[in-house]
Amino acid sequence: MKFGLAKIPVQNTFCSKCSARIKSELLKIQDITNVSLYPTDSLVVFNFIKANELSTALNTLTDLGYPPEGDRLGSNKVLPICSHTCGRYVEGEVA
Ligand SMILES: [Zn+2]
Repeated sequence: MKFGLAKIPVQNTFCSKCSARIKSELLKIQDITNVSLYPTDSLVVFNFIKANELSTALNTLTDLGYPPEGDRLGSNKVLPICSHTCGRYVEGEVA
């Protein structure tokens, strides 16, 4: 079994709460494993097996409001940005 490694920089920042949500959504996709999120770099890393699983994962990220860098979005599309005051203050954590 050969795994691909995806390192996806996304356009929006996310906090540790958002990371947990993104991770659980990605893990619902079959054959997506080892999901790691790096909030300080806005980077999402995971293993996948087939290319179509990678594209499903990218669609999931876009749906969650974290489109991959380089994706062009319509100017009328408002991104749902994290409501946890992302990147500045995380409840219960010292940055
Ligand atoms: Zn958040």
